[in-house]
Amino acid sequence: MTYVVVDNCIKCKYMDCVEVCPVDCFYEGENMLVIHPDECIDCGVCEPECPADAIKPDTEPGLDDWLKVNAEYSEKWPNITAKKDGPADGKDFDGVEGKFEKYFSPEPGEGD
Ligand code: SF4
Ligand code: SF4
Repeated sequence: MTYVVVDNCIKCKYMDCVEVCPVDCFYEGENMLVIHPDECIDCGVCEPECPADAIKPDTEPGLDDWLKVNAEYSEKWPNITAKKDGPADGKDFDGVEGKFEKYFSPEPGEGD
């Protein structure tokens, strides 16, 4: 199994999660992060750290599409290991429905 980042990270991107990951397996897109499924050791420490409740174990049902997004973009985006400032308007997007369809960006972030 692995943990996956799901839609509520999009445009919130608080980045509390990257600080606690012992194996540095978060990767940064323009407006969200993903977890590399082959690097994640399933320790689970990131899940409660996310203020947006956007990290889930892939044992939860209905996450197949998100597992694909995490697997694909963790190969394309740069690694991130230290917290940066998230978007100033991140809180405005916390809990918004349909974020993937409206806002997902395949563009990479800056990484560390
Ligand atoms: S803490 Fe949550 S919202 Fe913030 S970057 Fe990590 S997964 Fe995304
Ligand atoms: S479950 Fe552990 S290893 Fe996997 S992304 Fe979260 S902190 Fe990193």
